[in-house]
Amino acid sequence: MNDYHESITTSFTCKLLYLGAMECAKYRMVRTDALSARIRIPVTALLIHHPAIGYIVYDTGNCENWQEELFEDTRKNFPIVEYKSLQDALAEEGLSPQDIDLLIMSHLHFDHAGSIRIFAGTKAGSHVLVGRKEYERACRVVEEGSGTAYVAEHFLVDGIRYEFLDEDRVLGDGLKIFLQSSHSPAMLGLEICIPGERPLLCVSDSVYTQENYDTGQPPASPNAANAEGFTENLVMLKKRQDEIGADILFGHDMAQVEDILRRSGMCTEANLNPEQTP
Ligand SMILES: [Zn+2]
Repeated sequence: MNDYHESITTSFTCKLLYLGAMECAKYRMVRTDALSARIRIPVTALLIHHPAIGYIVYDTGNCENWQEELFEDTRKNFPIVEYKSLQDALAEEGLSPQDIDLLIMSHLHFDHAGSIRIFAGTKAGSHVLVGRKEYERACRVVEEGSGTAYVAEHFLVDGIRYEFLDEDRVLGDGLKIFLQSSHSPAMLGLEICIPGERPLLCVSDSVYTQENYDTGQPPASPNAANAEGFTENLVMLKKRQDEIGADILFGHDMAQVEDILRRSGMCTEANLNPEQTP
């Protein structure tokens, strides 16, 4: 533990919310020679309860009526094989969208932004945090019709107002947003430091899986934007990981998510590093 850890005194909780799964060709996640290999990838959100901020949700998963709203290409390349709504996941925690104080969007792709609208008119919906450059790109793509990962109905919603981030921000004791420039021009990552636990870097889709992280292999998606900045961002993350002794929560790693869920769903050291516990 370094000085940074010791300066954090506020205890809070962070729970992984499982919102179903999609399937895709493996190469869309990590470069591989096995071009016909397919994998199942999880869709998740985080629920954080911080005494000074309240309930925080990070990402919202897919939309309920994905059969009608997603582009045909998306449905073909990333079929949703299991869907759980964010409302249902929150209800299992005894919460509704009205109870949430802050919504943070890692980025605005369909599998993260699909349920922003359930916060329309709520306190969380009145200042949703998103990277400015990500929002600008999302708006440009839907206006030009130049991509299928952004769906206007997901993020341009009455009753949702955004606050745009251009730089890192400390949200509260032990909780920090950091900007990444991979996969999105302004991907919001979350650094979570709970006293007594190893810090956690939630990187979203800047690194899809442990395999991307360990091998340094980017996605080989036909959409080059999905891999832009990957290597530079990885260098930044590894440096940050070393500096603070953090674990990484990846964007779409089924094995990692299954492990965390098996051990109660809390994103804590005991669940991310079970071999280190008695
Ligand atoms: Zn994603």
